[in-house]
Amino acid sequence: MSSFSNIQLAPVLARAVAEMGYESMTPIQAQAIPVVLSGQDVMGAAQTGTGKTAAFALPLLQRILKHENSSTSPARHPVRALVLLPTRELADQVAQQVKLYAKYSQVRSAVVFGGMDMKPQTLELKKGVEVLVATPGRLLDHIEAKNVVLNQVEYVVLDEADRMLDIGFLPDLQRILSFLPKQRTTLLFSATFSPEIKKLASSYLQNPVIIEVARPNETASTVKQHFYSVVDDDKRRALKHLIFKNGITQAFVFVNSKLGCARLARSLEHDGLKTSALHGDKSQDERLKALDAFKSGEVDLLICTDVAARGLDIKDVPAVFNFDVPYNAEDYVHRIGRTGRAGASGLAISFVSATDSKLIGDIEKLIKTKVELETVEFDDGYSSRHRESSGDSRGFREGSDGRNRRGPRESFEHAHKSSVASSFGHRSYEKKPVPIDPFFDKPYEPSTAPEQLPSWEASDKPTSRSISANIKPKRKVAALFKTETQSPT
Ligand code: AMP
Repeated sequence: MSSFSNIQLAPVLARAVAEMGYESMTPIQAQAIPVVLSGQDVMGAAQTGTGKTAAFALPLLQRILKHENSSTSPARHPVRALVLLPTRELADQVAQQVKLYAKYSQVRSAVVFGGMDMKPQTLELKKGVEVLVATPGRLLDHIEAKNVVLNQVEYVVLDEADRMLDIGFLPDLQRILSFLPKQRTTLLFSATFSPEIKKLASSYLQNPVIIEVARPNETASTVKQHFYSVVDDDKRRALKHLIFKNGITQAFVFVNSKLGCARLARSLEHDGLKTSALHGDKSQDERLKALDAFKSGEVDLLICTDVAARGLDIKDVPAVFNFDVPYNAEDYVHRIGRTGRAGASGLAISFVSATDSKLIGDIEKLIKTKVELETVEFDDGYSSRHRESSGDSRGFREGSDGRNRRGPRESFEHAHKSSVASSFGHRSYEKKPVPIDPFFDKPYEPSTAPEQLPSWEASDKPTSRSISANIKPKRKVAALFKTETQSPT
């Protein structure tokens, strides 16, 4: 493990790092910090939770410290470093970290993202900031409103670049990058190095140093992964059973649709579990409240969709459940990256139903690991595999006797409500009389459609910008690059 003393951080930064309690550099930091300090471009494949924010923020701050000054003139505080991220939560999180690292310096930082009033952001921008963290759409709004100029940017960071392309931000990124000086350092971080990412890098990075701390698409070795064969009707029961059995104190539970997310959250809350839902239909305020409640431990289960939960850094989440197998194998890597962060151990549990065989095959290919399906053995002797319907070549088949030995739902609810609640070990589970809601009698049915992009992200997305009128996101990414340049290897 390399120590921060090896890189001779400026005293103001070293002090902030020491205050954060970091003892040694994480692998991405040990590799990326010296390269960024030397001014070279970086293409970094780093999983979430590896410490990549500090890997770019610390050297970038160190390099722009030479400009720090206490002048009140905005002209003395032009944007020197621009950090672009796909979602507002992630932007907020990175901006908070930058503020912490820069707290003993005079370097100013700010964050701008969509879905919020532009006025306070405008005021802050007009005062002048050296480090600007932003989502692409809102940044373009500010550029168009002439609230910010980017002609003195020395560093640009494209963080979670794969997700920015997934969301369709490529045209916005191209436009933003066209406003920046050609002479600059560009850092690109992505959980995976897809062909589209390699093309983006070959278009905008100059001789980048490739840094891969874990192979792309590899899941953290600190995360124990389990896959359980569970029919849809039994997922909620299996979730509660496994929480109890594993003594899980807090968890993220991922579902594939907003409707499924809201529904599961309501039903678990009904069961006496402290639950919040995080999905694209929630207002920004509701989302931040749900996150704060989870961080402070008031909430034990955060039920979320991929778009809403992308990049969230919450320390020490002991477990992640994939209530639904994600449609996109890369989302599996992102989801389980919520646990086992910064070296802590984590548990990732996925519920696999008979129709998920193709999705599981994609995950196996991506993580290069064969998935072994396990069975949930409930306390009443019922096993999660028994009611599975059709068999297939991957072994997603009916149990040997095919009988449904599950007891009536009521008896399970009654027997387990208190035990699951006590697994979380705190105050919040006194059973209140809950009015009967017919909604809960229906089994959970995941929607077949993936979550639509939430309105707040839609508002960040390009709509009528002239440069991108004829450009469709994602699938046409490759076509946007005029020349077939050799991707970096
Ligand atoms: P990131 O991958 O940047 O989202 O970081 C994940 C978490 O690791 C954050 O909570 C950081 O505060 C924390 N972290 C970053 N660097 C270190 C370090 N060197 N030692 C311990 N924790 C760190």
